[in-house]
Amino acid sequence: MERISWDHYFMAQSHLLAMRSTCTRLEVGATIVRDKRIIAGGYNGSISGGVHCIDEGCYVIDGHCVRTIHAEMNAILQCAKFGVPVEGAEMYVTHFPCLHCCRTIIQSGIKTLYYANDYKNHPYAIEQFREAGLTVKHVPFHNQHLNPLHEEQKELMHQLLHAAEVGADSATIASLQDKIEQLYPSNAYQR
Ligand SMILES: [Zn+2]
Ligand SMILES: [Zn+2]
Repeated sequence: MERISWDHYFMAQSHLLAMRSTCTRLEVGATIVRDKRIIAGGYNGSISGGVHCIDEGCYVIDGHCVRTIHAEMNAILQCAKFGVPVEGAEMYVTHFPCLHCCRTIIQSGIKTLYYANDYKNHPYAIEQFREAGLTVKHVPFHNQHLNPLHEEQKELMHQLLHAAEVGADSATIASLQDKIEQLYPSNAYQR
């Protein structure tokens, strides 16, 4: 089995999350990582219990769908909800963030942003990231990176995402992370 790098591993996670998006305008996924551990994930989706764009159509105001909370915000809000510190963390996102998310990412204390696809990269976002001293790195990702993943890995990741979504206890999440890490053993901390 070909081993994937940490960057591709976390970016794969974000691409899996993007597949859960409920707004078809843009499927975005975001993963927050600290010390090479996934601490949260998000995708473009409605508020909990709300109707989905994929069912009812988008709610568009001034050219933007206002029904969904962006993936980056959802990931950060998940940390807020469950009291997980984000200071110094890294974020892997499928698309370059919008201006609102850019400021939220900076203000949350995230220090490194990896993005896979350029998406209307706003000059003001780039300027603000630079002023805030955030490291922004382009990590191109192709879906074929997902193909080598074994069914077992996919299933474990799915369980981990679900556990994070429902706010499972940390022991459950840690045990899933351990199982996943066993599939990516040794010198894992070297890029
Ligand atoms: Zn929508
Ligand atoms: Zn956004």
